[in-house]
Amino acid sequence: ATPTALMVGTGRGAQLGILVRGPEVLESTRRVDTVVLDKTGTVTTGRMSLTGVVAADGEDPDEVLRRAGALEDASEHPIAAAVAAAARERLGALPAVTGFGNEAGLGVRGTVDGVPVVVGRPALVGPLAPELAEAVATADAAGRTAVAVGWDGAARGVLVVADTVKPTPAAAVRQFRDLGLRPVLLTGDSAAAAAAVAAEVGIDDVVAEVLPQDKVEAVRRLQAQGRTVAMVGDGVNDAAALAQADLGLAMGTGTDVAIRASDLTLVRGDLRAAADAVRLARRTLAVIK
Ligand code: ADP
Ligand code: MG
Repeated sequence: ATPTALMVGTGRGAQLGILVRGPEVLESTRRVDTVVLDKTGTVTTGRMSLTGVVAADGEDPDEVLRRAGALEDASEHPIAAAVAAAARERLGALPAVTGFGNEAGLGVRGTVDGVPVVVGRPALVGPLAPELAEAVATADAAGRTAVAVGWDGAARGVLVVADTVKPTPAAAVRQFRDLGLRPVLLTGDSAAAAAAVAAEVGIDDVVAEVLPQDKVEAVRRLQAQGRTVAMVGDGVNDAAALAQADLGLAMGTGTDVAIRASDLTLVRGDLRAAADAVRLARRTLAVIK
């Protein structure tokens, strides 16, 4: 009866919008006690829009946006898409970029107008003048993400982008708790931006400012504490952590890399399906025992 019940379980999963890699996955699904959620693209839509451009004293905000937009046009990050689209909309055609380079979880570099330009985490760009530091603090406090723009060795401006929390994560988090699962928010974004999103969806445990290669370490640390960890993610930067977790769940709306690294795919990108998966696994395996 065992294989039959498992097949029925995986079939029922498909009806619920959960693709299960193989019937054996239900066993690890049943055992998880911790759900680690990536922020951008998993809890939030990941579709960002530019909400502000702040130039350093003496700099032209359009120039900040133009150079940043040119560089971000070559990146696939959600922040990059927002910056490039806004730059093109406001300023028209963007200048060419040479020597483009991406530093995962940090930002991008390249040469625009013959000048080396950097866009990304303030730490990547260099010290911020007081008016720029203030813009970052204001954005953080509002749960928005601020990226710095620099060239010629100095920060020249700050771009503020906003993402929105999806409609269902708050309900999903309540369901996780009802199932006895502990939710944890994991992100490369700033602690303040992470805290704002965590508060909005009801999560108390936040691990922020984590580099992509350190997301896997964060999962390992929870496992070392004796926890059985489910990780839910969407991005290329989540793949290693998804593979390390006892159970990897990919958003169906996410990247192929994340889906390939996972045991389960939430087809509609609705986090509530992760709670459905745990309930289904518990029920299916209870029938077998
Ligand atoms: P998350 O873990 O929430 O999915 P990421 O690890 O992708 O976030 O990115 C972490 C941070 O790195 C961003 O909040 C941003 O500050 C910076 N960053 C990464 N890529 C870019 C980029 N292309 N442009 C600007 N900033 C970037
Ligand atoms: Mg993400």
